[in-house]
Amino acid sequence: MSATLSTTPVTDSAVSHGSSGARPLLQVDDLKKHFPLRGGLLGGVTGHVYAVDGVSFEIAKGETLSLVGESGCGKSTVGKAVLRLFDITSGQVVLDGTRIDTLPNSSLKPMRRRVQVVFQDPFSSLNPRMRVRDILAEPIRNFGLAKDKADLDRRLNEVMDTVRLPRDAITRWPHEFSGGQRQRIGIARALAAEPDLIICDEAVSALDVSVKAQIVNLLQDLQRKLGLALLFISHDLAVVEHMTHRVAVMYLGKIVEVAPRRSLFAAPRHPYTQALLSAVPVPQPGAARQRIILRGDVPSPINPPSGCRFHTRCPYVFDRCRVEEPLLKATSPAHTAACHLNDLPPEQNPLVRDGTPFH
Ligand code: SF4
Repeated sequence: MSATLSTTPVTDSAVSHGSSGARPLLQVDDLKKHFPLRGGLLGGVTGHVYAVDGVSFEIAKGETLSLVGESGCGKSTVGKAVLRLFDITSGQVVLDGTRIDTLPNSSLKPMRRRVQVVFQDPFSSLNPRMRVRDILAEPIRNFGLAKDKADLDRRLNEVMDTVRLPRDAITRWPHEFSGGQRQRIGIARALAAEPDLIICDEAVSALDVSVKAQIVNLLQDLQRKLGLALLFISHDLAVVEHMTHRVAVMYLGKIVEVAPRRSLFAAPRHPYTQALLSAVPVPQPGAARQRIILRGDVPSPINPPSGCRFHTRCPYVFDRCRVEEPLLKATSPAHTAACHLNDLPPEQNPLVRDGTPFH
């Protein structure tokens, strides 16, 4: 990702956040997803992959929450759990007041319409044997949204206009489009279902920088015009810097920091967030940023470290970190972080005292 990604900044006041007291559109409470590992002669359970291990967050109507972290941290598993692509191990997923993790498959259709997804790979996510018209008509028909053929045609034209593709392109096949155009078709397919929430799972990661910026801008426009909520899953903080309302940072199956965008970028209160931010290119000429290189690799989610899961890579690790798991605590209104350093007075807390990785 380069510093040339230019998007229209969002304003924090544009939405009512979950913390405002209004009922959130999506509420995830203590979500856990542990995948069993099977082995041995009898194929019994020999262990678990603790992919998501106690994740809680909420998204307000019309809000964009970005879920950020390195590959393998569990962020995509959270998205799939919200989509009900598998049963969760424990916790709750509540959509607009209705618990959806316990709904039987026969009752899932209304939820499936309201929560749509845009996947990372615009090449494999569209059926190559279907024309664009059929790809877009499928959700409209599945959810019984069109009154008649004229209404179907009107809706198809509308979604093509919304994603800024020419109407006559609707008769073409997916292979006739570029990567960015295919991602627009993917977004149009999601919009055709008239959702309240779109999960964008690394939706721009496979695109070139200029196309990436166009798709991010399109998603921002849609979010504003249609009042959509977005769960934007990304490994790249540079992508979310200008387009999100809040950011939740994940590390090894847990959320380690949640904050409004400005607060997180200006004053991160977790060493892992600081390291991620240090890798974001600085757009201002002459500005420099001290890159924080983390030692080692992300530990295995099969056997996560004791205490703070980040302790094997943290530049500030001390004895307490190895035995006691830090909890998410408020460091300021709407800003929470899970790091023992935040229990120290500000003048002794290196996360505050040394400032951000921006110099
Ligand atoms: Fe680092 Fe300790 Fe904070 Fe974990 S709790 S992030 S190991 S200082």
